[in-house]
Amino acid sequence: MATDQSGMMQPRYHGIPSFMRAPIVDTPDQADIVMIGVPFDGGVTNRPGARLGPRELRNQSSLMRTIHPSTRVNPYNQCTIADLGDVDFPEVYNLDNCVERIHDFYQGVRNSGAVPLSAGGDHCISYPIIKALAAGKPLALVHIDAHTDTWDSFGGSKYMHGTPFRRAVEAGAIDPKRTIQIGIRGAQNSDEGWVYSRDTGMRVVFMDEVVELGINEVIGEARRIAGDGQVYLSFDIDALDPTHAPGTGTPESGGFTSREAIALLRGLKGLDFIGADLVEVSPPFDVGGLTALNGATMMYELLCLLADSVAART
Ligand code: MN
Ligand code: MN
Repeated sequence: MATDQSGMMQPRYHGIPSFMRAPIVDTPDQADIVMIGVPFDGGVTNRPGARLGPRELRNQSSLMRTIHPSTRVNPYNQCTIADLGDVDFPEVYNLDNCVERIHDFYQGVRNSGAVPLSAGGDHCISYPIIKALAAGKPLALVHIDAHTDTWDSFGGSKYMHGTPFRRAVEAGAIDPKRTIQIGIRGAQNSDEGWVYSRDTGMRVVFMDEVVELGINEVIGEARRIAGDGQVYLSFDIDALDPTHAPGTGTPESGGFTSREAIALLRGLKGLDFIGADLVEVSPPFDVGGLTALNGATMMYELLCLLADSVAART
């Protein structure tokens, strides 16, 4: 299946809004990179609405174009890219079942050889995705977020949006020593997440240190930690400052501008990415589509990173 470039020339408000206006497919073997919606927010602690993220990200991603402004590379010329639709949740009131559903779906994607770019959903979706992609061999992780998401449990559940990376360590799906968490900030009622990340050997770059080092130094640190093995990238939109991303469940002041976040992602080009996600966009709390637009923009940058990795492997 070739990506329909002529479709990219249609007025951008035309047609069914797939991610980036890419062709829609129903099996993952039809493209090198598949974009997937994971419309689930049963793992949030506070403001809900991320279940509506994929729809709004698809809508705002209609504004994205093809040729990257700094590399001049068109990812659609590097590999085939499609929208695989959404993960199904037939038991939406059963959190454990939903986590299992996501895992099964991504096992299918992994077996097909396609590289997934996912749109959440709250951050609990990242654990089953990473577990399926790792398939027993720990991945490196670049995690951009205001929060470490390494709590043990909350409200009686091991699965929720504050625990995915602790679960991933326990499952042997990520290597904590090849994990970097960038943009951490905001007061906590318990320091257990910060302590867990530190004690397992994750490199935690609090926002204070980002300010001190500057984006280029942080990029260097991320490249050093991730190394040359397979890398997963998880981007929580609350890494951005609430003035750039008000529509999210757990906003924290003092975050990245969209320009800083774009620069950070561009600096990671060349790492061996095998998947990425963009989570926690909550349209009901959004203002004028701003959060979904910035989310879709980050997804385009992630798409370019993934396409580059796919091209480098073939
Ligand atoms: Mn998060
Ligand atoms: Mn967060």
